[in-house]
Amino acid sequence: MSKKNAPVSKNQQFDVEIFDLTYLGMGVAKIEDFPIFVANAVPGETVKIGITKVASSYAFARVIKVLVESDNRNNEVNADLVTTGIAPLANLKYPAQLKFKQQQIEALLKKQHLDIPVAETIGMENPFGYRNKAQVPVREIKGQLETGFYRRNSHNLVPIEDYFIQDPEIDKAVNTVRDILRKYHVAAYDEVNHRGVVRTVMVRRGYYSHEMMIVIVTKSRKLPMQEVIVDEIRAALPEVKSIMQNINQDKTNVILGEKNVVLWGNKVIFDTLLGLKFAIGPNSFYQVNPQTTENLYTLAAEKAELTGDEIVIDAYSGIGTISLTIAPKVKQVYGVEIVPGAIDDAKRNADMNNIKNVKFTLGKAEEQMVKWAEADLKPDVIFVDPPRKGLTGELISAAVEMAPKKIVYISCNPATLTRDLEEFKQLGYEVKGSIQPVDQFPQTTHVESIAVLEKN
Ligand code: SAH
Repeated sequence: MSKKNAPVSKNQQFDVEIFDLTYLGMGVAKIEDFPIFVANAVPGETVKIGITKVASSYAFARVIKVLVESDNRNNEVNADLVTTGIAPLANLKYPAQLKFKQQQIEALLKKQHLDIPVAETIGMENPFGYRNKAQVPVREIKGQLETGFYRRNSHNLVPIEDYFIQDPEIDKAVNTVRDILRKYHVAAYDEVNHRGVVRTVMVRRGYYSHEMMIVIVTKSRKLPMQEVIVDEIRAALPEVKSIMQNINQDKTNVILGEKNVVLWGNKVIFDTLLGLKFAIGPNSFYQVNPQTTENLYTLAAEKAELTGDEIVIDAYSGIGTISLTIAPKVKQVYGVEIVPGAIDDAKRNADMNNIKNVKFTLGKAEEQMVKWAEADLKPDVIFVDPPRKGLTGELISAAVEMAPKKIVYISCNPATLTRDLEEFKQLGYEVKGSIQPVDQFPQTTHVESIAVLEKN
């Protein structure tokens, strides 16, 4: 159905020029000033498109044929990886991906009227197979249990065996678990009727340790044939150190439920990061790209110019990765984190590495920062590594009130970063030097960067 003011309607075809790329990696064209978002199209290309969906102020389209191809297009990649959102930027050659990320931050800064330079994105040497974790939806297609990924903006599963950005050993494990579930006729979750058993297969593998954790997320309390399934997984995947069942009975898109059952082995796996040992549980946040995380944290610590005497706050401390890697370089670290399981892991990680000068507090960073400010804590450096939604106004004021020499902002979302930088600026803290993007998530549209703020 076409919309009243739209110059296009569904299934119509056009030849268009792609002139931009959205932050989600869709090519942008215009027909009579009406924006058309085109999956798997690269700026500079002329493509024949078919309109797939029309809204009141924009439309979506797919590529029928590339008529003039961009030099930046990477043809070596399976289109399913691009259109399922596993690797939405994989249709760009890697240098163009790095440029895209730098330019995205530049454009957002410009929109905020912030005059801050952005350095070239630091990329990976081998920007594939880097993810240490997979969460793969399980569905039934034509009577068979399948693992794969959803087509973008949909819940239609596309079966996939090679996920391209995941550790290849993880891909193998996902496919192996899928085969075992098929063999014992375990039902896949049926989202529409909220029935069935297995919703998701999650796999984690330590980059250095090669320890593997398999988590089978079920809608039901029981996993049928549990013993044989465990035996077969252990026999087929000798790296496995932990097999867990996570129960999620809710009608929700949230992947993990709250209840974990150990089916076999340990509750956690271990891995090292910057020479320290970490325990990682199924619900804990752990950076998915261990190689670049080491670069990121090393760079963040360098930019903080630590001398050994500092008092440091690590807001959003997770399982303590930043706190514990910084601890040997400073006098005292205070971490705060909202997830109880992550705080337990963080404390255990401190003990395991015999680090004494870190104190972890369970709570909301925005509340704990206010408490610390009221208690007259005077940190020299504050690290913030918030989730995508960024910082709150109260956290920013509390941080400024404590008058640190430096605030090191590690951001996974340039839109909230630039918003927060504006707020810091109003309160007298500005970015020193340039913002440094680090490509934590090659082939995807995620943009990670570091900014260091100082009082002006
Ligand atoms: N620095 C850690 C974690 C960064 S991810 C690392 O690199 O591993 C962000 C973390 O913030 C997650 O652990 C998440 O659970 C936590 N978090 C989210 N909202 C929070 C809040 N309001 N207060 C404190 N922590 C929060």
